[in-house]
Amino acid sequence: MTTKTLVYIESNNNVIERVSKEIISHVRHFFADSTVYGVIVGDEYSIEAVLPELKNLGLENVFVIQNPLLSTYNVCTYSNVIAQLISNISPDVFLMGATSSGRELAPRIASKLDIGLTADCTDLQLDIDGKLLATRPTYGGKMMATIISKTKPNFATVRQGAFKLRQIPMLHTEISYFDANVADVASTLYKYEILKTEDKEQPEDWTNADVIVAGGLGLKSKENFELIYRLAELLNAKPAASRAAVELGWAPQSIQVGQTGNSVTPKLYIAFGISGALQHMIGLTNAQKIIAVNIDKNAPIMNTADIAIPADAVEVINYMLSKLSD
Ligand SMILES: Cc1cc2nc3c(=O)[nH]c(=O)nc-3n(C[C@H](O)[C@H](O)[C@H](O)COP(=O)(O)OP(=O)(O)OC[C@H]3O[C@@H](n4cnc5c(N)ncnc54)[C@H](O)[C@@H]3O)c2cc1C
Repeated sequence: MTTKTLVYIESNNNVIERVSKEIISHVRHFFADSTVYGVIVGDEYSIEAVLPELKNLGLENVFVIQNPLLSTYNVCTYSNVIAQLISNISPDVFLMGATSSGRELAPRIASKLDIGLTADCTDLQLDIDGKLLATRPTYGGKMMATIISKTKPNFATVRQGAFKLRQIPMLHTEISYFDANVADVASTLYKYEILKTEDKEQPEDWTNADVIVAGGLGLKSKENFELIYRLAELLNAKPAASRAAVELGWAPQSIQVGQTGNSVTPKLYIAFGISGALQHMIGLTNAQKIIAVNIDKNAPIMNTADIAIPADAVEVINYMLSKLSD
């Protein structure tokens, strides 16, 4: 039986989000007997900008929902037109990235279609009947649950960085324009403008950096957390944080690693003053090597780290900074 899988292709500022490509690459690689379609939403200019790339994603067909009223992302209009497409083409499986917009679009689409949603998945497989097996952390990250939905399409969102980008065979991709009813919803909407946030708030595609330098509560203060940024810069690495550090306002949520943050795929993850709670470590399952610096040699992360350094985090960072900036 051939399964029809539809993937939402998220594009921001004329750039296709990496998570959309990760999902396509995973599906192409692991979903035997699946035809894979994409759907993208925007206006003429934003679609035109990514059209060449859309044809090279390894999809059988890309459904384009194009309208001047869709020039700016809006959760109401976007969820509405995507739901219309799904009702029309009736895929067996529908997937999207668990990005900020994915996390607000998905429940609305599920509600419009009266279907289930498995959010924030870390693995997806198809069973022999073509049913989606969607795996995600549960009980605060203490267990992994594999969920099989009874509604069609089987719908899941996928965490960024959960899947690797793999080589996939290129296909001839058909581009089909889907004529959604946009005006109905758009006429009821207020207008708003998307303001550009500071770069520090939205690091570009940092989750696949080769080296990540992360800080947690063991750094003791926001001033000390700034050392993470300095060290990351000197190592040509990206900064990251535990949720506890984010909650104290030491770092933006966009660089949080873990269950409710990002999954990362570095060759090397250096953790300063992070205990290694399960909810943090879930974001590190694809990290190749971990170095942990923690004053407590019995902290959980010290057991899983490839190199565990029982020492004061700030002292080690300052030592590294002094050696590296020589
Ligand atoms: C549903 C749910 C989702 C969650 N999602 C996430 C998530 O996405 N990401 C996440 O990170 N957490 C998440 N958490 C929170 C998680 O459980 C932990 O509370 C959090 O990861 C702890 O952050 P931390 O390691 O910085 O702080 P702590 O656990 O307080 O650890 C601080 C560490 O610093 C060490 N230390 C102290 N002084 C020093 C020093 N001078 N030098 C070096 N080390 C020192 C301590 O020994 C300790 O090990 C979640 C929790 C729940 C319930």
